[in-house]
Amino acid sequence: MPPAPQAHSSADLVEVNGLVKRYDGVAALDGVDLHIRAGEIVGLLGRNGAGKTTLLECVLGLRTPDAGTVRIQKSDANKGGEAVRVGAQLQTAGLQDHLTPREALTLFAGFYEQPAKPDALLRRFGLEEKANAKFATLSTGQKQRLFLALALVNRPQVLVLDEPTAGLDPVSRRDLHAVILEARVAGCAVLLSTHYGEEAETLCDRVAILDQGRILKMDTPSALRGPVGTVVTIASDPAPAVEIFQGLPEVAGVEPQPGGCAVRTSDPVPVLAAVTRWAEARAAQVTDARVRPRSLEDIVVELTGRPWETGTGEGM
Ligand code: ATP
Repeated sequence: MPPAPQAHSSADLVEVNGLVKRYDGVAALDGVDLHIRAGEIVGLLGRNGAGKTTLLECVLGLRTPDAGTVRIQKSDANKGGEAVRVGAQLQTAGLQDHLTPREALTLFAGFYEQPAKPDALLRRFGLEEKANAKFATLSTGQKQRLFLALALVNRPQVLVLDEPTAGLDPVSRRDLHAVILEARVAGCAVLLSTHYGEEAETLCDRVAILDQGRILKMDTPSALRGPVGTVVTIASDPAPAVEIFQGLPEVAGVEPQPGGCAVRTSDPVPVLAAVTRWAEARAAQVTDARVRPRSLEDIVVELTGRPWETGTGEGM
């Protein structure tokens, strides 16, 4: 069931209502409602083609919706309602090959009245050593960091990020998480898309699970996970019969997997005990047993009912 329309709050900086975007008659967005408050990070999580980029582009005014509205509030109506500053980093971003990070940041800073200092951004994004290197010679991660730095030149109050950490090494990813969290502390409204459930959990106050242009569910990560928040995965020879978990009141579902199964439960102990009893009785060999929190990726799979198209084990 689609989520109920959100109540309007005066602190909402971004308001998206009933957004529809069609490409060749096919709806990439099919009635999206989304409000983001100042100081809030909202994540979009979904499979390839779910409509995440289209939604971000509509919010930025880069695409004209077929129906619905996008409204970015004026900053302070009492001061004449100045336009809110918006920063963006998109997957399609590019720069001329010969531009250096310092030149690009200085160029962008020239567009604005009170820009952040290019040197401070070079330092913050670990680009000092590459400050004078040509864009074409930067690594993927360095380019990604430069684009995020460029998105912050205008000291934005609304920040729109399309897969900001795609292709980054774990340390750089953590650094960028810190930058995004700093933006939240500064009162920024952040809308980001990601394929990483863990990233959405780490960063986002609320996560919208998008599929085929619709928000299937939107809530805090812990509310999305719900009370049955643990998954026990078992690998054994032979694989355990699903029936051994039947009757355990803590178990919400069992999914057979190659060579084993995954059990959703509120308490892993009775599940592990059942596996132990069964393995001893059958002389089965348990090769792996893991207990982990239910991830947002699990929830996307459950809600969309289809396996991932790409599965690195790390993201979607
Ligand atoms: P990904 O995770 O792969 O980046 P996404 O969730 O960002 O995907 P979108 O890029 O918004 O998804 O695409 C949503 C749907 O709209 C897809 O079916 C895509 O093929 C289609 N689409 C996107 N841009 C265009 C376009 N310019 N012309 C036609 N169809 C498009």
